[in-house]
Parts: sequence; C-alpha cells; structure tokens
Amino acid sequence: MIGTLYIVPTPIGNLEDMTLRAIRILKGVDLVLCEDTSVTQKLFNHYDITTPTSVFFAQTKLKNIDKITGLLEEGKQIALVSDAGTPTISDPGVLLVDRVRSELPEVKVVALPGPSALTTALSVSGISSAQFVFLGFLPHKKGRETLFKEIAESKRTMVFYESVHRIEKTLESLSDCIIAPRQIVIARELTKVYEEVIFGTSKEVKSYFSKKKDKIRGEFVVIIEGKK
Ligand code: SAM
Repeated sequence: MIGTLYIVPTPIGNLEDMTLRAIRILKGVDLVLCEDTSVTQKLFNHYDITTPTSVFFAQTKLKNIDKITGLLEEGKQIALVSDAGTPTISDPGVLLVDRVRSELPEVKVVALPGPSALTTALSVSGISSAQFVFLGFLPHKKGRETLFKEIAESKRTMVFYESVHRIEKTLESLSDCIIAPRQIVIARELTKVYEEVIFGTSKEVKSYFSKKKDKIRGEFVVIIEGKK
C-alpha cells in the first residue's frame, strides 16, 4: 500500500462550493489534517463526513510532520484542508508537501481543484489576469514601503490578501501611490451573504470605505490594475 496526500480546497464562505470529488475524498481518507477542528467540523456536519481530524498548524513542529510522513509511509490516505480555500495558498501545508515530495517520492501528492479567494476575486474583477503577481499578505512593517513602490510601478496586475485590521491603512497607501485611471478592485466577503466587489480609482475606493465604515468588515482581496 502506498500512501496518498490529498490537498483538498474547501469553501471560502458558501458551504455549497464543495466539489463532489472533494466530499468523496474527505469521506474516504483515513485522516483529515485541518487548521481548526471547529471550522472543519461545521463543513463535515453539512456533508455527513465522519473522518477523524487532527490539527495541523502553520508552524507545525518537525516532530508532527514526522508523524504524518510516518503514516503516509504506512500507506495511510491523508487529506489536508485549511479553514477556507486552497491549502498552502497563504495557508499551512507547504512544509508538509515539500517534505513528502523530497523524502517519500513513492507517496502520491494529489491536488484537487477548488475554491480560492485569489481566483474567485480575479474572475469577478474585470481586471486582466493574463499576467498577475500574487503577493499573499503584505508585510506589516519591514519591506512594506518598498512593496507599495513596486505595486505603483508594476505593469502587471497585482493581487494581495488583506485583513480587516489593515484595510484602511492599505487603502490610504494605495491612494497615495496609484494614480488614476488605474483601477482598483476590492473583493469583500466573497460567496457570503454580504459579498461585495468595489471598483474605481484608488481615491474613489478609499473614499467609499471612509464614508461606509460598516463595510470595513470581513475578508478582503485587493486587486490593482497594471500600469499602462
Ligand atoms: N487559502 C485561502 C485561499 O485559497 O483563498 C486563503 C487563506 S488566507 C489565510 C485568508 C485570506 O484570504 C483572508 O484574509 C482574505 O484576504 C482572503 N479571503 C478568504 N476568504 C475570503 C472571502 N470570502 N472573501 C474575500 N477574501 C477572502
């Protein structure tokens, strides 16, 4: 028996956004590695999945990774999920995939396609994704200024994730460095009840959020059109 590690995307809000294959794999594996059992349990309850779970953190100690690679060596089928979206995309799991690839070449690593805030936001943005640069989360301090300079000069579409705590500060920086007519799209709460896609110049988008403070809530993807 050869073990398999499945990378299984889960919904970014709307629980219906599960593929049939993702449900079948989560039902059939021996163990599901997750970030937060209570988040994953909600999904499992919705789909009657009773597979055992184990918490897998971003900074998973090497000892824990050893345990998982040991199970894969024994032939176990393991799935990795995150709280939302595609594991390893600004989420835990890269270390594990790297270890399995380098140390257990006989173990199959199988990625399922599925939801991600990145592709969902790009697809609804109306901004070209023929070429884009994904920055993940921006650094809070060191390197932040330099990155905004890079964004300001980029001919490619730039995309990053932002949290509710920093979105205003980020919009402020963007309004200082991104000059009209370049468009900015803020995709907020995608697939959820209060889903919203706001677009305009950097100044328009900033002004929208300063007038509607109640919209500074939830999760955000920021997309900036490349310089012409
Ligand atoms: N792996 C996930 C994926 O593939 O989308 C991303 C995980 S990352 C820890 C979480 C960030 O993704 C949030 O801070 C936000 O920027 C973005 N995000 C996740 N869900 C979202 C949603 N429903 N609407 C907008 N952005 C979302």
